[in-house]
Amino acid sequence: MKPILVSGLARNMLYPISILWKNMRVSYLAISEKRCTVQISGCNFKCRGCFSNEKGECGMEITGSQLAKYIPADKEIMLAGGEPTLDRQEMLSTISELKNKPGKRKIIISTNGSRLDKDLLEELEGITVHIDLKAYGPELHRWYTGKDNKNVLSAIRLLYEQDFDFQVSTVFIPDIIETPEIGDIARFLSEIGDIRYKIMRYVPVGDFSRRPYVWEIEDAVNTAHKYLGNVTSSMENRSHPKNRKTIATF
Ligand code: SF4
Repeated sequence: MKPILVSGLARNMLYPISILWKNMRVSYLAISEKRCTVQISGCNFKCRGCFSNEKGECGMEITGSQLAKYIPADKEIMLAGGEPTLDRQEMLSTISELKNKPGKRKIIISTNGSRLDKDLLEELEGITVHIDLKAYGPELHRWYTGKDNKNVLSAIRLLYEQDFDFQVSTVFIPDIIETPEIGDIARFLSEIGDIRYKIMRYVPVGDFSRRPYVWEIEDAVNTAHKYLGNVTSSMENRSHPKNRKTIATF
């Protein structure tokens, strides 16, 4: 971690800002045809169905410049985890370094949305956001993640109001997050606008739940389509492509 002085544009005013340069803790990098995923460690949720090794502290601190050396210039970059927004200054430092590298890379943040607020979104202008909404019902969300979903719901409204390129996704988990819940989420989203919505098929880990049947996912997609124009599922559009390879571990 090294402190430096940065001059820059912030909220449309030119003035010097002093920031503490901080590094994210990264566990590994995975590459696919069009994307490099940076797996960041640590998460503030405790999702009962989580299979990510990155929810705990692992990996090592690494700068955006060091990361950029591993990432081919033609790949978009996804910051995932774990939860990349846990320490906003670390994340902003990393993004700033990645943006300064050659090539016009698309940068995507995959987030649980709990830490996105107006100030952070102002700093994230131009970044694509993939936000998870685990459940609409507050009780169910609290039971599943250990946290309230109020901030996640407001983050989705803000992303829309601030005209971000973003999508919302929900994991279909048999007996827990099923079509009626997904219908509630789609209705909530449609009250904001015609938001892109993706339904993910749960990947079983242990005996928490089973893999959803194809007809269950199709049913959920059809239900969400009653409210929204752009609904996809991980069956036709995989988030983790088959040819994804780990290129570095830390
Ligand atoms: S938000 Fe993601 S990484 Fe964190 S506990 Fe939930 S599923 Fe795991």
